[in-house]
Amino acid sequence: MKTNTIITFILLIGITVLSSCDSEDNLGATSEEYNVAVLAQISETISAFPLDSLDAEEISGLELMREEEKLARDVYLHLYETWGIRIFLNISNSESTHMHTIKVLLDRYELEDPISEDVEGEFENSELAALFTSLTSFGDSSLVNAFRVGSTIEDLDIKDLMDLTEETDNEDILFAYDNLTRGSRNHIRSFVSKLNTSGESYDAQFISETLLDSILNTPKEAGNW
Ligand code: MN
Ligand code: MN
Repeated sequence: MKTNTIITFILLIGITVLSSCDSEDNLGATSEEYNVAVLAQISETISAFPLDSLDAEEISGLELMREEEKLARDVYLHLYETWGIRIFLNISNSESTHMHTIKVLLDRYELEDPISEDVEGEFENSELAALFTSLTSFGDSSLVNAFRVGSTIEDLDIKDLMDLTEETDNEDILFAYDNLTRGSRNHIRSFVSKLNTSGESYDAQFISETLLDSILNTPKEAGNW
């Protein structure tokens, strides 16, 4: 199977928005203490922003992103179980932090969490549930395909986060999306680098080739989540 196969499948499912993000090194061999400190820092930073009103688009964006970060985390955890390659574990930790970031926002605006029970591979959003099945199946077929799955998820995440950024003017949400997008840029750098090492390449499917090239041609960005 090739990249086109999985992209076609995603499009057939009709997914329009997806997501994910951070530096695999920073959150990699993460100690529990480090995680706790980062999560506390995120909560504190977000709570310092003014509390603005939300419109329907902003609400649906947050609900979607909450589960999309979960999709990324769950797929990478699954691929780590399959392949035992550290990059998947490290980046899944980053996605867990991103899930938390969106949860802080949901709580702040007193919105219901779409994740009522956090079970790997289970989603309220049926499109995300179907994507979990197809992405993990494709990623299990070969290690190179697993790296393609990672690149695809991050490609789509960057696109979706950029779109959602256009739909909000709330400083706390913009802060969160900005950090999640930076994380996704670092993640796609890592996954495509793995593909390149295997003699493979990745063609942008959701963002433009120009944007992808500019991301891949700039160094990993600093940031602890
Ligand atoms: Mn993420
Ligand atoms: Mn990511």
